[in-house]
Amino acid sequence: MLTDSRFYSVLNNKCPRCHQGDFFVEKSAFSRHFDQMHKHCPHCGENFMPEPGFYWASMFVSYAFYTIYTLFTFGVVVLWLDIDLDYYLMGLIPTLVLLTPYFFRMARRTWLTIFVAPDPSLIHTPTKAL
Ligand SMILES: [Zn+2]
Repeated sequence: MLTDSRFYSVLNNKCPRCHQGDFFVEKSAFSRHFDQMHKHCPHCGENFMPEPGFYWASMFVSYAFYTIYTLFTFGVVVLWLDIDLDYYLMGLIPTLVLLTPYFFRMARRTWLTIFVAPDPSLIHTPTKAL
């Protein structure tokens, strides 16, 4: 089930431990205060700031997201759709700028999720009806 997976918190702005509390204050990555995080999980109290400078390394995770996005879109647009490279580059730069808040938030969630495992006793899973 996806809610037991580490990907759930990365993709849904949730705490990596309980999958209930929000990670960032704002729900949308495209809001004015997209970078404001909770210091602790509002649901289980997990510390989202384990040490000073903890999220410095999430910059490299963000770099990996940019690289994956660029290679994927290059493969689709230039190699598969056979669109000229100049047009691809003119479209790539604005989309990378627009995706910056989204990749920033996803990189921080991914970085913390690497170190914090989901706690099955805290994850709410609906019971199956008999
Ligand atoms: Zn939590």
